[in-house]
Amino acid sequence: MGTDTDVVKTLVEHNIRPSVQRIFIMNYLMEHRTHPTVDEIYTALAPSIPTLSKTTVYNTLKLLTEHGAVLTLTIDEKNTCYDACTQPHAHFLCKHCGKVYDIAYGCENLRTDIPTMEGYKVQEIHYYYKGICKECQDNNY
Ligand SMILES: [Zn+2]
Ligand SMILES: [Zn+2]
Repeated sequence: MGTDTDVVKTLVEHNIRPSVQRIFIMNYLMEHRTHPTVDEIYTALAPSIPTLSKTTVYNTLKLLTEHGAVLTLTIDEKNTCYDACTQPHAHFLCKHCGKVYDIAYGCENLRTDIPTMEGYKVQEIHYYYKGICKECQDNNY
């Protein structure tokens, strides 16, 4: 975990007590920008933390989301996934392979204010695109 201090800093900045499990899970999300699911995170971390359970992973992600350190994405209704990038950005779900891609282009257009609703504070913006990714199309899907 080369970015250990960054991970702890991120947790502390969001008023989260940096326990070992929280550090591991936050670190995994910061290093894997593939929008992993609870299962993926659990499978990846279980060998390093023998006491880890899926419930702990789920509860930790819930806590990280509640404190604004992580985004919970429901783009794939069957597989909730998680994102350490909390800046407004759009996502593309491939309906064939299930991968969730970041769409960096146009992020500046995702405004965090709503012109017609003065005084409302936006905390999250979710833009979901769905279709077939290039990789799957190249494989003649
Ligand atoms: Zn695909
Ligand atoms: Zn993302």
